[in-house]
Amino acid sequence: MSVGLIEHPEFLKHDNGRGHPERPERLSAISAGVRELPFAADLVEMQTRNASRAELDLVHEPAYLDRLEESRTREVTIFDGDTRATRFSFDAALRAAGSAVSAVEESLKSEVRRSFVLNRPPGHHAEAARAMGFCLLNNAAIAAAAAVAHGGLDRVAIVDWDVHHGNGTAHTFASRSDVLYLSMHQSPHYPGTGQVHEIGSGAGAGHTVNIPLPAGCTDADYATVMDAIALPILREYAPQLIIVSAGFDAHRNDPLAGMLLTAEGFAALTRGLVGVADEFAEGRIVHVLEGGYDLNGLADGVCAVLSVLAGVDIDSHPGKARSNQPRPVVASAVSAVRAQHSEFWSMPDER
Ligand SMILES: [Zn+2]
Repeated sequence: MSVGLIEHPEFLKHDNGRGHPERPERLSAISAGVRELPFAADLVEMQTRNASRAELDLVHEPAYLDRLEESRTREVTIFDGDTRATRFSFDAALRAAGSAVSAVEESLKSEVRRSFVLNRPPGHHAEAARAMGFCLLNNAAIAAAAAVAHGGLDRVAIVDWDVHHGNGTAHTFASRSDVLYLSMHQSPHYPGTGQVHEIGSGAGAGHTVNIPLPAGCTDADYATVMDAIALPILREYAPQLIIVSAGFDAHRNDPLAGMLLTAEGFAALTRGLVGVADEFAEGRIVHVLEGGYDLNGLADGVCAVLSVLAGVDIDSHPGKARSNQPRPVVASAVSAVRAQHSEFWSMPDER
């Protein structure tokens, strides 16, 4: 199975300043980990390009794009308390968004249907008209919108396992059914959106699936969420492409959140999604990096995902994670989501 990888020196040029957790070293740590993988030589180095203005226009408003482009002419442009651009950031963001688009294009026209885009700045908090939460351009949203507008697809699923809710992505597709957005995130937590009752509207009703989870969720808890909600809904939706907003800040060592996932937990999430991609989407699954701020946890998580994509991982606990009864606090979070979505999805529980 060919697994594609996108890396590019441009991504290292975006600089949030000293002490900021979203730093270029994140990508260096991942690269170092990936080079150590026994199958590293088999990974396919994919070409990238900048996103076009027409592609950015699918998600972002012209006035915001103009302002972002103007940041090229200033030393620093401040967007919010923790989001800024230097004169190099726009080019990094253009390349980050274009890389997500080109990985999707590759999945549609070549044998490299599984891939991981190791880009930054991240994207899922970026709204149509503003930068937010370390994010300038919404990479996953732009790639999904382009897959519909230019790739001829009408069922794209975005699965967002970053520990934060992807408010920008959710809002982009709230009224559409051709892109389903499913997020599992810590709540309450930044940015505060992603409550159970936010299900989309109009034609998009039921196609925004928010799964807010209490802090402290383990690999077993995430397995419960996958089995009881995510996988049944994805199978009913039958996506032609899965884009994963792959953040690793739900890792147990992450400094910005309180979840307890291990590398094995990220592998298990990937196994589930690859199964759906193989069954419905001719194997097309594109991972786009979002957050993840503990360098070792980040690198281990990405390597675990790549091992599953390459078909060389070993499930160290087959069936173990799902044999336990879910903790009551997780069971009640899961039933709230199932109840909220029962008019849209039948969600047979496959456990
Ligand atoms: Zn995050």
